[in-house]
Amino acid sequence: TKHLIIFGTRPEAIKMAPLVKEFKKHTEFETRVCVTAQHREMLDQVLSFFDIQPDYDLNLMKPNQNLYSLTADIITEMRTVLEDFKPDFIYVHGDTTTTMAASIAGFYSGAKVCHVEAGLRTHDKRSPFPEEINRQVAGRISDYHFAPTEQSKDNLLNENVSQNNIIITGNTVIDALLDSSERVNVIQNDEIETVKSIVDSDKKLILVTGHRRENHGVGFINICEALKEIAMANSDVQIIYPVHLNPNVKGPVYEILSGISNIRLIEPLAYPAFVWLMAKSYMIITDSGGVQEEAPSLGKPVLVMRDTTERPEAVEAGTVILVGTDKNKIISEAQSLLTDTTRYQNMSALHNPYGDGKASQRIAQFIKTKY
Ligand code: UDP
Repeated sequence: TKHLIIFGTRPEAIKMAPLVKEFKKHTEFETRVCVTAQHREMLDQVLSFFDIQPDYDLNLMKPNQNLYSLTADIITEMRTVLEDFKPDFIYVHGDTTTTMAASIAGFYSGAKVCHVEAGLRTHDKRSPFPEEINRQVAGRISDYHFAPTEQSKDNLLNENVSQNNIIITGNTVIDALLDSSERVNVIQNDEIETVKSIVDSDKKLILVTGHRRENHGVGFINICEALKEIAMANSDVQIIYPVHLNPNVKGPVYEILSGISNIRLIEPLAYPAFVWLMAKSYMIITDSGGVQEEAPSLGKPVLVMRDTTERPEAVEAGTVILVGTDKNKIISEAQSLLTDTTRYQNMSALHNPYGDGKASQRIAQFIKTKY
């Protein structure tokens, strides 16, 4: 059988890499990889770390990319790939424009469409934008749904997806993390060496990332002001912030946070250095989906700068606290975790609700029953 694994952005690449590795082990699968390269540099570093050479590279990233032309380009370009390879199954991941547009193209081709990280919902179609609609469209089109948790399965059942076509796998992000977290301590990697030289090991490290569109503008201004106060009030804290390349993020971050001695603003890190830094951190402040799924496996509490979440499991498990972009809430929760050691230790010891690192194996086993 022929299998086409499609992705376009950094987080999708990290989360699909374990699937590529697993599928290549099954000789009865003819597996090819197609990247849309909706992101370019951030995708390429992941491909290199996981040693993936795409069979098709649509190279679609353009300056000032917009959702209209990106969607149209993906659907058009996917046609050529689908007509060349004629896959029986295609695999899309999560909630990007690549996910949505490639699932439509796969459906047109007649392939069975498989959705990895299926069933996450906020049920608010504009938040996150455009991700909620991207994943709902992919969910509507897909034949098979690989749900990371019981709750994501329930979301799909509520949309009348047949339970025979949903399997709970855990999230492949944990497969990737477990595969990498040992490796980053032994590999030779210049970027990890640079990061090591930045970390002040006498201080508690707060690692920050952020990029969500809904936080652009006033959200990022509030976030930065909170970070500034946390840094000023705690000389025993170091904040390291790999700043996303989007100008709407970079602008306020550099304007508000430059020149503060215990804040280091750096370029986005390649995945191995980022994993190394997560493991070294005391806590993480982020609006990223993937980071909040990864952090509990490393025993790191997370403050999530969102008001709604499609990942309620971690909030319920207690590994994550939603703080929105409310400056005072960010400051007070961070301050509490810095000073209340019992609360901190309890949070660090909690179990990760997102899986055990065997999601890709479960996906391969399920697919073998479908042809
Ligand atoms: N990540 C990375 N370098 C960074 C920040 C994040 O490699 O500087 C990784 C992180 O470990 C996670 C993924 O990128 O696996 C999350 O990506 P992002 O926050 O862009 O997207 P989201 O998860 O919100 O979709």
